[in-house]
Amino acid sequence: MCSDCVRSAPATPAPTLPAARSGFPGRLSRRGVLGLGAAAAAGLTVGGSLLVTEVANAAVKPPTIIPTAEWGAKPATTRIDLSEYRPTYLVIHHMATPNNVATTKAAAYQIARDCQSWHLGNGWGDTGQHFSVSRGGYALEGRHGSLNALRGGKNFPIGIHARGGNDRSIGIETQGTFTSELPPAAQWKTLVQLAAYICQQYRIPTSRIIGHRDVNGSSTACPGNTLYAALPRFRQEVAKLLSSDPGPAPEPAPEFVWAVVGLGDRGFRTKVVQHLLRQSGRSVEVDGSFGPKTEAAVKSFQKAAQLDADGVVGKVTWPRLAVTVRNGSTGEAVKGAQVALNARGAGLQIDGSFGPATTAAARSFQQSAKLVVDAVIGPKTWNALTK
Ligand SMILES: [Zn+2]
Repeated sequence: MCSDCVRSAPATPAPTLPAARSGFPGRLSRRGVLGLGAAAAAGLTVGGSLLVTEVANAAVKPPTIIPTAEWGAKPATTRIDLSEYRPTYLVIHHMATPNNVATTKAAAYQIARDCQSWHLGNGWGDTGQHFSVSRGGYALEGRHGSLNALRGGKNFPIGIHARGGNDRSIGIETQGTFTSELPPAAQWKTLVQLAAYICQQYRIPTSRIIGHRDVNGSSTACPGNTLYAALPRFRQEVAKLLSSDPGPAPEPAPEFVWAVVGLGDRGFRTKVVQHLLRQSGRSVEVDGSFGPKTEAAVKSFQKAAQLDADGVVGKVTWPRLAVTVRNGSTGEAVKGAQVALNARGAGLQIDGSFGPATTAAARSFQQSAKLVVDAVIGPKTWNALTK
């Protein structure tokens, strides 16, 4: 069970990063005095979109969440760290367990116990995720302390459910496998209610409800193609519960969910960012390790572009940083594109020259990603290459 998530979670929790890394809520709590109303009045934005429509008028009643003590959880075997800030993402998983199972409360308790045993066996000290929703529509607390923290709305236990995102996200495991079918109605309904309550308590905009596969650094199909494809509708239903306005909430197209790359990240996305920073005239080493120098260069770029200089490359900074390259282009941005194409299976030389080989690799990638096949690496292709 939870096998997708198990494969992509680290053996130990990611270190707790400074609050500033966590975006809006972290920065808010650092200031310590701004309530949400003040933040909204000040026009603070997250990823370019106002929070107001998504959390104003919030009065979502908490769904019934069965606490660890009630379903018979074993005590945690390690210390569970509490963050000093709010989570900024809600990550939806599927357990990759069978769908043809009992939907009773007893069955919900059993799946919670089984999941905890599995995770204890992994050496995670407790259930990895914060909450689970059974196929019968029962919501259960996972990691100890999650429910109390959620009620308080100020912090959360650092979980183990999504490598690269554990320090800034809440995880919900959805019992079942959603590669070709959706959660049954009762489960879906509870999932929407639970997500709405979490978004309300932690001021998480619905655009930040993501699938496990969206987490930077993950290599998983979780939460399954069918549930993943239903996430735009899911976000809308959550937004509707959160708002007294019955109108549809504006939602980003799923293809424009961007990876979040920041301090401490390693890998090809960091290399791409470093090449793009060099393209912009900033001298950083391309070593694939997002250290303080890369962060400083990102801040410098953001300041120059009049963006919020938080040093994190997310959905606002990526489209500005990733310049369009095509046949005949040369330079660092082309090198970045070549690194990204190689991460997607091309075997290109990183020579910064967009010639026939890079053109062919770009076409092939666009075809497989169901994009317009024009070999022009613009915002949509950059997005698909790096998310
Ligand atoms: Zn997962």
